[in-house]
Amino acid sequence: MKKVLLVQVNKVDKSLLNAISSFLTENGFSVKTYPEIFHVSVTSYEWDKNGYNSSSLLDSFAKRFYGYPYDVVLGIADVPIVTPSLFATKDKLALLFIRNLEDVSMDKTIERLKKMSLFSIGKIAGLEGCKNQCIMRGFKDVHELDLLPNYYCEDCKARLNINDEG
Ligand SMILES: [Zn+2]
Repeated sequence: MKKVLLVQVNKVDKSLLNAISSFLTENGFSVKTYPEIFHVSVTSYEWDKNGYNSSSLLDSFAKRFYGYPYDVVLGIADVPIVTPSLFATKDKLALLFIRNLEDVSMDKTIERLKKMSLFSIGKIAGLEGCKNQCIMRGFKDVHELDLLPNYYCEDCKARLNINDEG
């Protein structure tokens, strides 16, 4: 569990994307940023609700990226989503929904996205429900997310096969 492909789903703020890439690199992952923007399909749009259906979006994202030689494909999605979920995962793919983070400062948004990126990678690796002081304890909403540390505990690191030396 080491190679992560970072994809912007519609245009994402560059500084935000770079911050997540650096953060994951510091945490021992090998990170590549996909050079193109993945444009969401209008077929995932629910016109009566003014937003995208998250599972339909995830399906089209999965169809496009499933075959890529990465352990995790992490999409950062700056589009309106009809449900309040913060992220969605399927197989080795994850989408993080920026617009569902509350309207806070850029720094706070980045801090939350860092935690969500670690969490979704851990979830894909089957590390959910850790009882230690660890991001993998899980969260129901942004307020619980804010209380979690932005790191894995030693047990989870070992299971992910990453270490402080990278
Ligand atoms: Zn843990």
